[in-house]
Amino acid sequence: MEVLYKSTRSDMAPIKASEAILKGLSDDGGLFVPTAIPALDKSFAELSQMSYQQVAYEVLKLYLTDFTGEELKDCIAKAYDSKFDTPKIAPLRKAQGAYYLELFHGATIAFKDMALSILPHLMTTSAKKNNVKNEIVILTATSGDTGKAALAGFADVPGTRIIVFYPKGGVSAVQEKQMVTQKGNNTHVIGINGNFDDAQTGVKNIFNDKALAAQMEEKGFQFSSANSINIGRLVPQIAYYVYAYAQLVADGQITDGEKINICVPTGNFGNILAAYYAKKMGLPVEKLICASNENKVLYDFFASGTYDRNRDFILTSSPSMDILISSNLERLIYFVTGEDAAKNAAFMQQLSGDGVYEITDDMRAKLSDFWGGCATEQECFGKIKALYEAEGYIIDTHTAVAGAVYDAYVKETGDQAKTVIASTASPYKFSRSVMTAIDEAYKDQEDFALIDALCEKSGVAIPPAIEQIRTAPVLHNTVCGKDEMKQAVCSWLGI
Ligand SMILES: *Cc1c(COP(=O)(O)O)cnc(C)c1O
Repeated sequence: MEVLYKSTRSDMAPIKASEAILKGLSDDGGLFVPTAIPALDKSFAELSQMSYQQVAYEVLKLYLTDFTGEELKDCIAKAYDSKFDTPKIAPLRKAQGAYYLELFHGATIAFKDMALSILPHLMTTSAKKNNVKNEIVILTATSGDTGKAALAGFADVPGTRIIVFYPKGGVSAVQEKQMVTQKGNNTHVIGINGNFDDAQTGVKNIFNDKALAAQMEEKGFQFSSANSINIGRLVPQIAYYVYAYAQLVADGQITDGEKINICVPTGNFGNILAAYYAKKMGLPVEKLICASNENKVLYDFFASGTYDRNRDFILTSSPSMDILISSNLERLIYFVTGEDAAKNAAFMQQLSGDGVYEITDDMRAKLSDFWGGCATEQECFGKIKALYEAEGYIIDTHTAVAGAVYDAYVKETGDQAKTVIASTASPYKFSRSVMTAIDEAYKDQEDFALIDALCEKSGVAIPPAIEQIRTAPVLHNTVCGKDEMKQAVCSWLGI
């Protein structure tokens, strides 16, 4: 069955997967969604015998239907190789009754690697398929982890350039160091004086600037997006939920067809949306537990039906979830309007205007797949400490938000169904928060002393991604105002 991609904001003619990957965002400002969500066409008995790469193929082939089997296998082989430090790619770890799905075994030790290792290959393949001669300029706003994962994915990929904007002071020391030490002649990293939402809004405005697009075309450039709104990010993320389920079957932890819950630490709503798509494809999932930190705009949305970004932006120790506008939620909103682009566009208009919209009761009724929770900083740190003390297992701050919300979910509902918790970053990426959560006495130690202490406590080797930045020179030090982003892009491209 051919799957095409349509916009969430207008009734434009649907386009092919490769075209949607190249464009990133629809011309009308909407996000691309598949015309129909395909069903899994392999049994779990079969899937449970497959490698990660094989499962990824089984998922990708259903969505990216204008790619040949050979093209997909080639992209998958280039993405999920020895950049990952385990052949399982996404292993499960059982702890305190839940299954932590470790999505941080790639090059930059955060879950963004799962999609951003493959996106550059999907994109260059898409360019070839569509006879694109322009150089592709990837423009990305990051709350910390996307930036580095995108830089690592695109660095020195021929025919591409990449520009990453991050909120100066709004990412962890390790996250910043990882980005500003990025090598590759085609990479550019810029700090902005603003928060993540400012960076994301700035990038969206540049994408929607028609005059700039014309200027770019003249000089042989075109923009694309590596942000989680790109369908080429979303689809590869579905694969690890299918893989996790298949692994649980293979290990005899669940029976074939048994329903599980999936709990996801959420920011831009991309990761949990992938789990929702997996459910729609036939993965036996009961609840999708959406975990927020103190920026609990999604928790309030699920509780009240009102999405309201008018509130203070809180800097937490889980910075990749410090987000007030969850871009991918638009795909869910579109879905619960009954795929009514005009209705969805009106909600998004309200969001960009007044910063708030309220969905109807009919729409709310269609959100019963989700359970929203939130955790305070205290609860997050408490979870890290408790899990360490009970099992010697150390999780990062984002994962701990999910762990704490899952505990609250069990307490409130009594639901005993097996639950997969998406573990989205290595604790090494947030060693200061993690170590002080375990013991306050660490709070005055230097970054690398903390990393060494974490190694000692967890017994997990320090990942190369961390070792490398101990001595790496800073190669990027541009900072600009949130209103100067377009200028910064033009000057780097020389247009
Ligand atoms: C990006 C990120 C998240 C949030 O994922 P979304 O897809 O944006 O909801 C959570 N944890 C970590 C470590 C991340 O990097």
